[in-house]
Amino acid sequence: MEERYLRYNHLNEYLKNKFGERTLKICVDGGFTCPNRDGTCGTGGCIFCGEKGSGEHLTRLPIDKQVENALNSYKSERANKFIVYFQNFTNTYADLDVLKKKYDSAFIDDRIVGIQIATRPDCITDEIAELISSYSSKYYVCVELGLQTSNDETAKLINRGYLSSKFIEAVKILRKYNIDIVCHIMIGLPNEKFDDLKATISFINILDIQGIKIHSTYIIKGTKLCELYNNGLYEPITLEDYLEKLVYVITHINPNIIVHRISGDAPKELLVAPEWNLHKKWVLNGLDKILKERNLTQGCFYK
Ligand code: SF4
Repeated sequence: MEERYLRYNHLNEYLKNKFGERTLKICVDGGFTCPNRDGTCGTGGCIFCGEKGSGEHLTRLPIDKQVENALNSYKSERANKFIVYFQNFTNTYADLDVLKKKYDSAFIDDRIVGIQIATRPDCITDEIAELISSYSSKYYVCVELGLQTSNDETAKLINRGYLSSKFIEAVKILRKYNIDIVCHIMIGLPNEKFDDLKATISFINILDIQGIKIHSTYIIKGTKLCELYNNGLYEPITLEDYLEKLVYVITHINPNIIVHRISGDAPKELLVAPEWNLHKKWVLNGLDKILKERNLTQGCFYK
C-alpha cells in the first residue's frame, strides 16, 4: 500500500475497497446553470468561478453521449467501474422531472456504479434529496456541497450567495435520506486568516460529513478574482503556506472522513496565478513529505 494511504483516507483506496477494484470518475456537464449567475440569488457568480462554472474541460453534449465517449476512451482500459460526476454549475438546480431525466441518462451501461452530484446548499430540498436517494438502493450516491469557508464575511466578499447556516440545513436534509456528503473548502481565499480556516474545520467537524475536497484558491482569466489580482488587491497563496494549511486541515479533520482532493486543478490555458497550481505532484508529494517527517496522520489532532 502506498505510504499516503496509511497517512490519510485517500479516495482511490476508499473506492477500491468499496467496489472491490479500481473505480474511476467520469466528469460530465449536466447542462445546468447556477442561481448565483442567473439572478435568482445573485449575478456574476462566485468571484473565483470561471464562465464554465468550474468545468472548463467539459462539453455540453447530451449526458449519455458524454458518458459513452468516456467509456470509449482510454479510461475503459484503466478501470471497469465508473461513477458519473455531475461536475460544473449547480447540478440540482432544475425541476424534479428534469433532474430525474438528467440523472437517469447517466446509467447507460452496467459499468456505471454510481453518481456524484455537485451543488449548492441552497439548492437542496427534501424532494430533491428524496429523488437522489431513490438511486441508492442500486447505486453509490453522493452529493458535493460547496462551503469554501464558514466565515460569512468572506462568503460575502467572494459573492457566495448564501449564509453558512444554509450549509447546516442542507447537511441535515441530505443525511435524513442517508446521502453521503462531500464538503468543498478553499484555502487562500481573499482576506482569510489562518484562524478563519481553523474555524471552518471546527464548523465541519461538528457536522455529519463523509468526505472533503480541499481546493487551493487559484486565479483564472475573466473572473472577479482576476480583476482583484490585476489591481493588486489579492495575492495568491504560496505553495509553502498552502502545504502548512493543508497539513492543518488533514490533521484536524475527523479521521473517518474520505479525502477526495487536496488541491485545485486549474485549466492550464486559463490559469493566471499561482504558477505552482499546475504542478499537482508538488502538493501531493509535499504533503506526503511533511506528514512522514512529522509522523502525522489524518485526524491526529481531531477533538
Ligand atoms: S455556486 Fe458554483 S457554479 Fe455557481 S458561481 Fe459559485 S462556484 Fe460557480
